[in-house]
Amino acid sequence: MKIRLKEIPQDGRSYSFDRASAELNDALEDIVGEHDYAVELYIKPIGNAYEMTGSLKTVIPETCSHCGYEFELSIDRRINEVLFEEVAVDRKAQSVHGNHSVDFEKDGPSMTPVQGDVFDASEFVHEMVALSEPFYPMCGPNGQCLRSKEVEEIRRRLEAESEFAEEEKPSPFSVLKGLDLNKKN
Ligand SMILES: [Zn+2]
Repeated sequence: MKIRLKEIPQDGRSYSFDRASAELNDALEDIVGEHDYAVELYIKPIGNAYEMTGSLKTVIPETCSHCGYEFELSIDRRINEVLFEEVAVDRKAQSVHGNHSVDFEKDGPSMTPVQGDVFDASEFVHEMVALSEPFYPMCGPNGQCLRSKEVEEIRRRLEAESEFAEEEKPSPFSVLKGLDLNKKN
């Protein structure tokens, strides 16, 4: 879904994408699967750049990094970007950092470069979903695993079992004892 920024009127334009409107279905398939998504964008020219605000809501399939159960992670993010035409010098600087967008400050808008006055909404939304994936996904709310206790119990049991297995193994001494010719039966 490519948006020609020059065609956007001075008072801005709104865009809505979801599974029914289907513009981003193919682009997001590998990351949201069959889940629903809702993307709202409002783009408005500001001088040489464009202000883009909106929201992104979806659900992605995840595996809990603690208990290994699969769950659905809700993503609900606000969009606050400045789209600017990327010049060659900037591109070089960007690639050094390997970053697609540069955050000015935590609550301020992010800078998103565009080329040839075309904003690729598919790529942007895909990246935003990908960046919303935590490194260590947890199946419960607030970064907690819902099966923490269960996992701890299993871990304890496995540890106990492996200790028990250690004890069961004949030690070199008990083997020697069995060979002890002086041993009285
Ligand atoms: Zn879990």
